[in-house]
Amino acid sequence: MKKINTIIYGATGSIGSSTLSIISKNLKKIKVEGITCDRNVSKLIKIANTFKVKKIGFNEKSLNNNKHNLKKYNTFNDISLFHNIISSKTDIIIFAISGLAGIDLLSKVLMSGKKVGIANKECIITIGNKFHYISKKYNTKIIPLDSEHNAIYYLLKHNLGKYNSITITATGGPFIHYNSKQLKNVTLKQAIKHPVWKMGKKISIDSATMMNKALEIIEAKYLFNLKNDQIDAIIHPQAIIHALINYENGVSTAILNKPDMRIPISSIYFDFNKSLNSEIAVNLSKYNNLEFIPIDTKKFPAIRLGYEVMKMGGLAPHVFNYLNELLVDLFIKKRIKFIDIVRLNEVNLDIIFSKNPNIKNPKKIDIKNINNWIDNNLYIGN
Ligand code: NAD
Ligand code: MG
Repeated sequence: MKKINTIIYGATGSIGSSTLSIISKNLKKIKVEGITCDRNVSKLIKIANTFKVKKIGFNEKSLNNNKHNLKKYNTFNDISLFHNIISSKTDIIIFAISGLAGIDLLSKVLMSGKKVGIANKECIITIGNKFHYISKKYNTKIIPLDSEHNAIYYLLKHNLGKYNSITITATGGPFIHYNSKQLKNVTLKQAIKHPVWKMGKKISIDSATMMNKALEIIEAKYLFNLKNDQIDAIIHPQAIIHALINYENGVSTAILNKPDMRIPISSIYFDFNKSLNSEIAVNLSKYNNLEFIPIDTKKFPAIRLGYEVMKMGGLAPHVFNYLNELLVDLFIKKRIKFIDIVRLNEVNLDIIFSKNPNIKNPKKIDIKNINNWIDNNLYIGN
């Protein structure tokens, strides 16, 4: 039997590790063709040795060749070269690079005509309306890996007719029970400790501000071609329902599964999660209570702001996304407070669109120009 050839962009991260844990149990079926990371080359080489991977990509420029014995590998030393890892043999690409750094790479991956599992929401938002168009044009099969969007994808496979709207769920993050006063003094350590999911730093902070959910609402719009009023979110702390499809006849459908990223990821390699064993099964008798709570947008203004930029359209969702990336980084560097991440996003959005037009169908150059403008004019107060 021919093995499935797979590439993992972002192999050293949280999604990358979950993907590799699935592959490690299915080595007869799946061969890892290529892996990449940003700078943690030691970890990348460890993975390459364990999974007998020949093609490795990384950004680190100052490497000790002898220490890493790179001659054994076909190396791609810069993200601008990572697309060359894709070959005629590639079957499945996992795109799990965090943030916007992978935007040009993703644009090329979308033109590959391969099956692509995409975890990265930031790039989907910035590519925006064109995401659907490009992947269709090049016959690239997209399977969303973000748990909510993966649930939507499988729910919509069972076509039950026309639906009114889609609801995604949120755990509410680590600060769901904090009041506004407590939120003012949140530390980085508290913000990256998610109650349910174990994830990379940026997405953990995004979950704490609920920016993650705001981004996911916009992600859903672009992935599933939704109108702005067709998508909403609700808090569901148990995290076993990830999305609901709300049909015209009043019926809603949902899939129930534990919050474990191996479930969406394995759905790309196997027929409906065939490979996973019962350790992962949902035992409803263990849940006393399934709660659904409206999101308090006063406490978590990211959601309100997300809707506003989605309605503005054009460059606005990208600007919101880009500002968030810059502001999260400033929070990590302790230059701004936790609550400033969303507050300064709103302040900067106002400044940016009072001085720059919102371009309806932005091109790559428009994104580049607005990023430059923001880099030079970002307001973070005194
Ligand atoms: P992470 O920080 O754990 O891993 C990020 C990976 O991307 C690493 O391999 C890192 O080396 C690589 N990377 C980072 N910057 C890079 C650069 N400039 N060039 C090349 N490679 C770079 O992040 P994660 O939690 O695995 O999340 C990855 C993506 O998946 C994010 O966009 C996130 O929003 C999304 N996502 C993650 C989860 C989760 O459970 N972790 C769930 C849903 C969606
Ligand atoms: Mg998610």
